[in-house]
Amino acid sequence: MIRTGQTPTGSRLAATATALTCVIALITAGCTGADTDGFRPGATDAGDPYVPGRGNGGYDVTHYGLDVRYDPATDRLTGRAVVTATATQDLSQFNLDLHGLDVDSVSISDARVDHRRDGDELVVTPRDGLSRGRQFTVTIEYAGVPAAVTDGELGSGGFLHTADGAVALGQPDSAATWFPVNDHPSDKASYDIVVTVPDGLSALSNGVPGPTSSADGWTTWRWSERAPMASYLSTLVIGNYRVTSGTHGGRPMVTAVAASLPASGGAASSVARTGEIVDFLASRFGPYPFDSYGGIVVADDRIGYALETQSRPVYGPAFFTGDRPNPGVVAHELAHQWFGDSVSLSRWGDIWLNEGFASYAEWLWEEHDGGRTAQRNFDLQYAATDWTQPSVEPGREHMFGTAVYKRGALTVHALRRTVGDDTFFRILRTWTAERAAGNATTSDFVALAERVSSRQLRPLFDAWLVGGSPPSLP
Ligand SMILES: [Zn+2]
Repeated sequence: MIRTGQTPTGSRLAATATALTCVIALITAGCTGADTDGFRPGATDAGDPYVPGRGNGGYDVTHYGLDVRYDPATDRLTGRAVVTATATQDLSQFNLDLHGLDVDSVSISDARVDHRRDGDELVVTPRDGLSRGRQFTVTIEYAGVPAAVTDGELGSGGFLHTADGAVALGQPDSAATWFPVNDHPSDKASYDIVVTVPDGLSALSNGVPGPTSSADGWTTWRWSERAPMASYLSTLVIGNYRVTSGTHGGRPMVTAVAASLPASGGAASSVARTGEIVDFLASRFGPYPFDSYGGIVVADDRIGYALETQSRPVYGPAFFTGDRPNPGVVAHELAHQWFGDSVSLSRWGDIWLNEGFASYAEWLWEEHDGGRTAQRNFDLQYAATDWTQPSVEPGREHMFGTAVYKRGALTVHALRRTVGDDTFFRILRTWTAERAAGNATTSDFVALAERVSSRQLRPLFDAWLVGGSPPSLP
């Protein structure tokens, strides 16, 4: 993964220079690495005020290799995480996020290193420091009974023990409840996830399924997400599920519905439309960005939301109350595969870039599916909107509020009305292509829209996203 502003070639050059300096120092006065001038601890969070304490600085993760075993009978998880990363500064110490769980050992390149816990931080001290630009592999062996994270403002997320297994998901952060992680969307990485559970249970996660194997009463499931993934988009779902495996457009499609839900009810019929809905969205947004498709419906009422977990969204049971189909929520979560998952936030204050577009996709889908037109939804929402609430920088307590979702969708439609359909969809397809597998900000989107349309659009975005009174209709 290469993030905006990073210069990997420069980093490698810097690392070489540092190594040479070290060799010279060794000849003259000894080289202790960690004590070398300029080596310092990485930042202990990502500097994002919406998620204080989450994420870390000083390194960039490229891959997580996770191997976890979970026994629902004891609620105990045993894990090994192999994290491949590159130092982005001369690093004397760095942190990973980990909520609860006991760390047995930490190794870098197979050599044990010092570690300690500080709340939800795992603090790792490499023996001789890590030069800027150096790639390293840190292996963490850990175990314990996972604990969910509870946030008074944002609800609970993370690892939840359910009646028949467990589910792990949640936004804005959840991953640290089941593996050590740089838990902020600005550091995306690929994943291999191996999960071992008692025979008879399913263990679902992100990406392409690998072979399963069984031994001594345990079954191992394997998943691989090759495209960079933000940590909050990882998921683990263990329990009794009706799993449907097939292909769509030549790529694996895996859907699963909790066995306690009706076999041919509203939940099952809705996720069964995943391929059809993806194809519709791809016709508007550009090619689907990932190697696999899917969706998982859980039965636990504590999951009172749906989340766009990468390549395989998770839907809570409340969306299908009364056994009614709800393709709208499927369209919303699948739209996030482009807006949020492939093109991800750099900081949570820009969350309208995820939710405004996913909400707008619901309008597009509803019109396509024979319901209200997008224009009709726009008109209704325009009349109902509180313009004192901004979409950008909504404040932590409003990051999942109406202004982010509905006012965000209004802004998207206002852009469409202003530039016309052809230019509008060209803007969206250019955005999803140029920013695929990366991170971006509101300013990046405005700049791209101005470039593609050859128009000054900043005043339009200012009025629709953050202005304090109803904007004039385009
Ligand atoms: Zn959403």
